[in-house]
Amino acid sequence: MSTAASVSPEVLAKYEPVIGLEVHVQLLTQTKAFCGCANKFGMPPNTNVCPVCLGLPGALPVLNRKAVEFATLAALAINCTVNETSIFARKNYFYPDLPKGYQISQFDKPLAEHGFIEVPTPNGPKKIGITRLHMEEDAGKSLHDGQPDSARFTSVDLNRCGTPLIEIVSEPDIRTPDEAFEYLTRLKEILLYTAVSDCNMEEGSLRCDANVSVRPRGQEKFGTKAEVKNVNSFRFIRAALEYEIERQVEVIESGGRVIQETRLWNSSEGRTYSMRSKEQAHDYRYFPEPDLPPLIVSAAWKNDIAQHMPELPEARRARMIEQYEITAQDAQTLTATRAFADQFEAAAKTAKSPKRVANLIQSELTSRLKAAGLDLEQSPVSMRGIAQAADLAEEGKLSSKQLKQLFDICFEKNEDFGVVYDREKPQQISDTSAIEKFVDEAIAANPKQVEQYRAGKKTVAAFFVGQVMRLSKGQANPGLVNELVAKKLDS
Ligand code: ADP
Ligand code: ZN
Ligand code: MG
Repeated sequence: MSTAASVSPEVLAKYEPVIGLEVHVQLLTQTKAFCGCANKFGMPPNTNVCPVCLGLPGALPVLNRKAVEFATLAALAINCTVNETSIFARKNYFYPDLPKGYQISQFDKPLAEHGFIEVPTPNGPKKIGITRLHMEEDAGKSLHDGQPDSARFTSVDLNRCGTPLIEIVSEPDIRTPDEAFEYLTRLKEILLYTAVSDCNMEEGSLRCDANVSVRPRGQEKFGTKAEVKNVNSFRFIRAALEYEIERQVEVIESGGRVIQETRLWNSSEGRTYSMRSKEQAHDYRYFPEPDLPPLIVSAAWKNDIAQHMPELPEARRARMIEQYEITAQDAQTLTATRAFADQFEAAAKTAKSPKRVANLIQSELTSRLKAAGLDLEQSPVSMRGIAQAADLAEEGKLSSKQLKQLFDICFEKNEDFGVVYDREKPQQISDTSAIEKFVDEAIAANPKQVEQYRAGKKTVAAFFVGQVMRLSKGQANPGLVNELVAKKLDS
């Protein structure tokens, strides 16, 4: 077995990877795709089933309208053309978790085609083509000894049967594992913004198969691809692709031939294993689903659905940078989720300085949330609290040191900023003569800096402001300190 460790960077650089991704996404409908069963994760095994999703004889599917709407919204969000007519087809295969013996999917007439997602690369933004987005249903789940990878006995849970899915197939436009990572990150973000899925990878709401081949740089013809399945995080997909690229290069460099096969990623070993070669692969014997009419998404219906399109992450970031004069980095943090961005914008609209709200989130909130292992939704400090803190700082009523202390207390006691501020009301020295004393002290102790200032280096004033804040134990009114430092230094 090759270990893929012996390929030098020079040899690796002679080859160009080609990657295409197939992503399955469960839709957040109330009920399943073709029956009235609840579309819900985590129910006791085989309790959430009916004759339709069990495939009992005589049971007929009825298409879930909401699933079509979600699929169409997702398709529009990734710039696809939505076909007015698409056709459901039976994809036939035998597996214990597929009681009907076929999966209802779409084949030669998918719901949508010809889209793209833009991803950032070291050479600027790049469009990754989307070949198609089609609708299908999920299968059940096989559990081996109650575990995924053991085989003493196997049981089957059919609750997932009939869960509505979309499959999004990319063009083989991706050239590096990093681009694959970015593509998935952007895709997930867009799907979360449109709210068609929770994209929870642990629960299998979003699953990705990665196709990868390598070719000598300059060669036009693609190499033979391998498909890596069962990778349950974007970071693992990147790692699996890195491994797979080296493995394929090593095979070719040692005079071998890459074979078309499906491989499994083992995250604890950090490598892929052959699962089955394409020669053993299924012939799915697709044919049009006789129990469902063609799916018609009329122009009017499509326009209705498009009305529900939210502002998408990329556009939102561009607007926010413009509107609030924040940095691209700020915008990235603030739009991490739609809810976060909504809350920020609500706070920013009432705050005196949206820019300061953004700064506070970056400087005081995100690091503390990360350290405490909390999501934004669990933050003790609400966005309103942040806006309040930002206003107090903006008005010069709180020094940055006091602000930090108050945030520390919020996180220690799990209290919102307003509560802590009202109780602790940090002492502020706003008495001019008291502050003047600190300023005199700072000036007397630092003659060199005074000289620099008077020689024209006005930025040294900030040094004195810092000294005065230190002498006052952070309690001097920052506005007054600024004013008095300048006055004394200029006199
Ligand atoms: P299959 O018939 O094996 O499922 P498809 O043509 O449907 O293959 O493509 C499946 C995925 O593999 C797509 O995302 C596509 O972009 C990608 N793909 C196709 N050919 C290659 C290749 N030679 N190398 C890497 N990816 C590829
Ligand atoms: Zn059912
Ligand atoms: Mg395919």
